[in-house]
Amino acid sequence: GAVIGIIGGGQLGAMMATAARTMGYRIAVLDPDPTAPTAAIADHAITAPYNDPDAARQLAECSDIVTYEFEHIDLDTLALIADVGRLPQGSHLIRISQHRRLEKEAITALGLPVAPYANIMSADDLDMATASIRFPAVLKTCMGGYDGKGQVVVKHRSELEDAWRQLGDHAPLVLEQWIPFEREISVIVARSTTGETRCLPTAENEHCQNILHRTQVPARIAADVDARAQQIAMTLAEGLKLVGTLAVELFVGRDGTLYVNELAPRPHNSGHFSIDACETSQFEQHVRAICGLPLGDTRLLSPVVMENILGQHIAPLMARLTHLESLHLHLYGKARVVSQRKMGHLTALGPSTADCMRRLDQFWAASAAEAE
Ligand code: ATP
Ligand code: MG
Ligand code: MG
Repeated sequence: GAVIGIIGGGQLGAMMATAARTMGYRIAVLDPDPTAPTAAIADHAITAPYNDPDAARQLAECSDIVTYEFEHIDLDTLALIADVGRLPQGSHLIRISQHRRLEKEAITALGLPVAPYANIMSADDLDMATASIRFPAVLKTCMGGYDGKGQVVVKHRSELEDAWRQLGDHAPLVLEQWIPFEREISVIVARSTTGETRCLPTAENEHCQNILHRTQVPARIAADVDARAQQIAMTLAEGLKLVGTLAVELFVGRDGTLYVNELAPRPHNSGHFSIDACETSQFEQHVRAICGLPLGDTRLLSPVVMENILGQHIAPLMARLTHLESLHLHLYGKARVVSQRKMGHLTALGPSTADCMRRLDQFWAASAAEAE
């Protein structure tokens, strides 16, 4: 079978690899950590920094197609792989999604809504920004942020200088108006090399300390809001010439207004529900899209709730491992258990998302009771 090379050996790479293997592909992976989740299941693991040009060339040589599981990849490294014709996704979308300002410009150029924002290149821009942005707001670095790192909430104008002192060294920044959202949702869309485009069902996301906690599907939104969210994802996929998978994070305002928060040009944590609950998972869809296969049916087979398992949840989980009969456990096989680190996820399927929520709550309540 053909070989798919993956840059990055984390859980997203591993779940891509698992899907690809069932479809008959073999897997090569590039990651600096030889114990990374994907390395354990790959046919060929290259242990080197992501941005090592020799390692990138090696990955391209031993793969028919190269893809990636995260977007913070050096563009010169990607160019080496594109030059030998092994990068069907290209690097256009990576370049945009590495930089919040470019991302917002690309979204607004397609006529799609984002929260009001102002560019902050230097301290001189702070005063100007306050003329157009109301408070509360949030100051964000344009590059390198994730899980809320590189962000400072600015409740009032008077806190802006202090926020600048914290983040100014990492400029360029954007100052973004705070959206008093009713819900956060995401749409994961896949577009194939052939141009075929399909969305997964819209997911509703709840974060704890800026890390995804639970995703429920169907999202509790009106049908017209859902239709608009899916249309936004389709417009982005076509307008940005997506190949592969794109996660679109959105805020739903109190009146149903949608704002695109950010993009991730890859399978996404909020799409993990699709492994157990959809006809085709986001990982299989990603492989289909980059290989030019027909896209799969994305129908939701059951209401579902996905919950992340972080490092601090591992001990209580292990104590109740024999009580998981009605929940689907996915552990990523990470060697080091660290608080707030994503170690796995649980999926509950049931007659309603409320029922799934209740069973997850009961599982953790029983685990807490046992610990006492
Ligand atoms: P990720 O790990 O998803 O890449 P990130 O560090 O890039 O996260 P964002 O998605 O920009 O961060 O923000 C993290 C969370 O903070 C959002 O999911 C949302 O809950 C909240 N948030 C960020 N910006 C805003 C805003 N303008 N209005 C309201 N809430 C916001
Ligand atoms: Mg982000
Ligand atoms: Mg986000």
